[in-house]
Amino acid sequence: MQTAPKAVLIGRTNVGKSSLFNKMIEEQKSLVSEVAGTTRDRFEADCIWRGKIIRMVDTGGLDVDQSHEIEKNVVEQANIAIEQADIILFLVDVNVGPMADDLEIARRLLKSGKPVIAVGNKADNAMLRRRASGDDWKSWPLNRPFAISAKQGVGVGDLLDEITNTLIKAGKPPADVAEILPMRICVLGEPNVGKSTLLNAVLGEKRFITANVPHTTREPNDALVEHNDQTYKFIDTAGVRKQAARRNSGTTLEKIGAEKTLDMVAKADVALFVLDITKEISTQERHLAGVLQDSKVSVIIIANKWDLIPNKTTTSVNDYEKIIRGFLPQLKYAPILFTSALTGKRAQDIFDLIATVFQTRFTQLSDDEAKQFMSKAIVRHKPTRGKGVKSPKIVSFRQSHINPPVFALSVNLSRTDSLATAYVRFLENILREQYDFTGTPIRIKIEVDRKSHTTY
Ligand code: GDP
Repeated sequence: MQTAPKAVLIGRTNVGKSSLFNKMIEEQKSLVSEVAGTTRDRFEADCIWRGKIIRMVDTGGLDVDQSHEIEKNVVEQANIAIEQADIILFLVDVNVGPMADDLEIARRLLKSGKPVIAVGNKADNAMLRRRASGDDWKSWPLNRPFAISAKQGVGVGDLLDEITNTLIKAGKPPADVAEILPMRICVLGEPNVGKSTLLNAVLGEKRFITANVPHTTREPNDALVEHNDQTYKFIDTAGVRKQAARRNSGTTLEKIGAEKTLDMVAKADVALFVLDITKEISTQERHLAGVLQDSKVSVIIIANKWDLIPNKTTTSVNDYEKIIRGFLPQLKYAPILFTSALTGKRAQDIFDLIATVFQTRFTQLSDDEAKQFMSKAIVRHKPTRGKGVKSPKIVSFRQSHINPPVFALSVNLSRTDSLATAYVRFLENILREQYDFTGTPIRIKIEVDRKSHTTY
């Protein structure tokens, strides 16, 4: 398993190290609560940015000797940073400009040869942002401080882009989420479609991991395997096998229990929705498609028993894909893989597809990108109203979450008007055209803001 490069945050007391640290690991907190058993100490945590992981270390939490004077304290931080970091983030306060201590540390960092980014915090307004590149910093030995406001979150996305680029240049690129986090996969579908055969084919020759893997707890029915150095956790595999044992008793998805399905879906990142390609898609399967669409799980459709289709031609895959799309329009974002669990054909391809789809759960637009995206979208199509008389005005658009992605669309509407659902669908479609969200559900949440005016 790969490890993420380390970014170490240093700076004088009160420059805002903890605020920046907390801002950068914000997304990770929600993720950590989902990955049971993860332990994380207070001053070191993974930051996820655009599907990549950087390990953040906040030296503000260092257990330094209280009798030390402040300068010594910072010197100690700098030494630790120089020793441990793949990149050093040196935080300064643009309100006060460079202090003697800052200059001393800056020279020390420069000498170390480690990649360093000076970050100018508390640039809460345009005037302060300008100051970060102003005369105050004439004799500053490092880059002009990268202006941010940790409190407001302004500039933090750009800073993370800068960190990523610097790490790439230094030959220590951030790791993909799929390389670090274990992917939790569930296998769903009607009895007899080939779920347990598929699981056996997929897991058959794999090395099962029994040792403790960081970030991971393993329930007795989970199968933890490694493929190309990445960890895959197939959850509730015994449940799948049990269904197979009962298949002759006429069990249907409904009888297996909507609750059980929901439970598996809630625990998984990626669902493999297995179909028997020789059978017509059932009402139950269409119902399951709806459940999956409304959930947070990403979906891959497995069209199994492909070996039973006679006289295949070059267009067969397309023809069958059309049929599946026709029956399951809700899952238009899910890729389809044609497999034969029995012969094992293309079964191993599932691993790479899972990793690809898992990665798209972390596709992330910075605030600026989301804003530009919206400006262009409006040029293509003005927002249309649902009910009411006035045209809705878009106030703002930003991505509020990853894993899975959620967007917040703020609209100025009167009490009696609404935004047409077709417009929300249009936005989803062009988001999918321009960014990779393969297999992953997208939510666009409408927030009504009657006070603000449109920024577009
Ligand atoms: P489950 O109930 O979904 O777990 O289904 P099983 O894995 O038990 O498979 C049901 C039946 O379909 C078994 O007889 C399997 O041998 C057969 N089967 C599964 N996958 C394939 C496949 O890809 N091709 C063919 N021809 N038969 C398959």
